[in-house]
Amino acid sequence: MTLDDLKSMPSLEADFDVAVSNMRTPSTSCADDVAGQALPSTISSRIRQRLQGAGISFFANDNIANHLEEGELEALQQEVTDQVRGLLKSLVIDVDNDHNTMETAERVAKMYLHEVFKGRYHHQPKVASFPNVKQLDEIYTVGPITVRSACSHHLVPILGHCWIGIQPGERVIGLSKFSRIADWVFSRPHIQEEAVIILADEIEALCRPEGLGIVLKAQHYCMKWRGVKEPQASMVNSVVRGSFRSNPSMKKEFFDLIRQQETLL
Ligand SMILES: [Zn+2]
Repeated sequence: MTLDDLKSMPSLEADFDVAVSNMRTPSTSCADDVAGQALPSTISSRIRQRLQGAGISFFANDNIANHLEEGELEALQQEVTDQVRGLLKSLVIDVDNDHNTMETAERVAKMYLHEVFKGRYHHQPKVASFPNVKQLDEIYTVGPITVRSACSHHLVPILGHCWIGIQPGERVIGLSKFSRIADWVFSRPHIQEEAVIILADEIEALCRPEGLGIVLKAQHYCMKWRGVKEPQASMVNSVVRGSFRSNPSMKKEFFDLIRQQETLL
């Protein structure tokens, strides 16, 4: 099954949310009533309805920045703040009197929308690519690039490093840009198997390389902090495309090069 197959599966939970939201919105008293159909009452349900109407996927590791309108991110931050405060109350935490948690909801909402999950709500950082005028075709690798992400299943950190190898093709980008793109892609809830594919797709779109390889090595706090509580276990996975996949000696050179970088850790 490909990532596209996974993403084409219907999101029952999202449909249910919109249905419930519509039920809660009395159509007769809604000021935004359009052609007799009430608009959903919350900003998140309006955004979800728009995305569903356009057939746009909004899984945890998708970016939805292109589908947010002016002022909606601010409104969403307020809604998330209210919901996080509700979560804290459901956890029977006295947010009205506990000086430590009084403003936790505001902090968490800001952290999700603008820091740890910014790769969902903010546009891709500007990355200029240039024609490969000297027709460079030797492999180079960059890494370790710090990986900071969160698991989609538990929303706890995934921390690690990745290495990216390129055999240049039509276009080239600056070395530091790989870190910026990786940070943007990883700043979403993920599972590691899909994260590396999404990063590879973004890099391919930017520089259309002849060969591309990515290795990702990370520790999952859902495994370290909870569950089986294995503090040292890590997961390593990779993707190889183009010449790195079709030519065994290129593939070997890529892995040999990043092994040298890993020993510097
Ligand atoms: Zn997890």
